[in-house]
Amino acid sequence: RDTARMALFYLDIDRFKHVNDTLGHPAGDELVRQTATRLQQTVREIDTVARLGGDEFAIILVDVRDIRAAEDVSERLLRKMQEPFRLMDDQVFVSASIGIALASGPQVDADDLLRKADIALYEAKKNGRGRHQVFAGDMDDLLLHKRKVENELRSALAGGTGIKLAYQPIFTADGRTIAGAEALIRWAHEIHGALPPQQFIAIAEERGMIGELGKWVLGEACRFAVGTQLPWVAVNVSPLQLRDGGFADEVALILAETGLAPSRLQLEITESVLLENNDTTRTILAALRQTGIRVALDDFGTGYSSLNYLRRHAIDKLKIDRSFVRLLDNDRSSTAIVKALVDLAIALDVEVTAEGVETEEQKALLVGMGCHQLQGYLLSPPLEPAQMLALAGP
Ligand code: C2E
Ligand code: CA
Ligand code: CA
Ligand code: CA
Repeated sequence: RDTARMALFYLDIDRFKHVNDTLGHPAGDELVRQTATRLQQTVREIDTVARLGGDEFAIILVDVRDIRAAEDVSERLLRKMQEPFRLMDDQVFVSASIGIALASGPQVDADDLLRKADIALYEAKKNGRGRHQVFAGDMDDLLLHKRKVENELRSALAGGTGIKLAYQPIFTADGRTIAGAEALIRWAHEIHGALPPQQFIAIAEERGMIGELGKWVLGEACRFAVGTQLPWVAVNVSPLQLRDGGFADEVALILAETGLAPSRLQLEITESVLLENNDTTRTILAALRQTGIRVALDDFGTGYSSLNYLRRHAIDKLKIDRSFVRLLDNDRSSTAIVKALVDLAIALDVEVTAEGVETEEQKALLVGMGCHQLQGYLLSPPLEPAQMLALAGP
């Protein structure tokens, strides 16, 4: 029987930065304030809601019967967070994630409880937004607590060890010619083995390291591309990098230092970037394109597509997200969506790449629709630099 006296929730608003900057609400504080009120109203008077800083809260429940009871409260809180917020005459939808740790003994180690809740929160986020996760004993070694990851990432970056790039060729529609390649970061972790980028990119973003990491990726990818016959190399850029007013200069400097022609660099950005009510980002993108660098819209179809932005020709290329491509063989509505996306790209005179192509059927459908380029395991997985070099030689 799981007895518990006390539960600690570590609650974090998902994508708060996105909401805050994207919609241009100066009142990120307002959102946090309203959140605090909601949380307070949802728990009992004897429970405590405390702001931990940023958009993170600790909620302490006393006299908790068992795990089930704690989870019920957590679900109520998460539902409450999903009700629209009214901020500056606008409706804003957010979700939150919760990590739960329970104290059942007579002694409560507050630090330990918070640490466990934080680990559980990290697990919750990994499984998608708007969820909770109860801390389990085996999480500690299974995970990579984010602070640990952060430190390790810092020393990996500083020492130039462990982090490297893989290159996935992108083919023209005939499936035979290499159009270019996408640089994908890899981190061979000493203890945890190969860590997927999703796990550590978010941490780098959260902990203010993405600028440094992104710069390293750009330099490395450009240096590599210069020594190959690759028509271009594509590099993923975090939205946070584009908020830094110095980004365009930084890229120009890297191109100058490595000697890569701007036309051989593509930057992959996500839709959220275009939504930003933020002149810096747009100015930077315009400045980059002015120099001949091309900008691709990644994961197209998954976010709020800014059709206006596309219409204004501020984008050179669309990449259809693999979640659509994956469903192509047997799902009619996905087929219709992909067809619509490809038609849109063609009508706007924008190049279109399909990612995550795994089967011949998908390939045939995509080519039939008029997709210009294909990327996916069917054609090639991401390759070690040496293998990439062998394909697109010096
Ligand atoms: P993405 O930009 O959508 O990158 C494509 C991902 O799809 C890569 O995963 C690639 O290995 C995978 N992929 C390629 N073909 C197939 C396929 O046929 N089937 C399936 N199931 N997957 C396929 P990866 O390398 O794990 O990267 C994941 C994400 O991490 C990337 O998604 C990108 O958003 C991010 N990322 C990777 N490198 C960087 C980087 O240097 N900087 C930033 N900011 N983000 C990066
Ligand atoms: Ca957050
Ligand atoms: Ca990408
Ligand atoms: Ca993608």
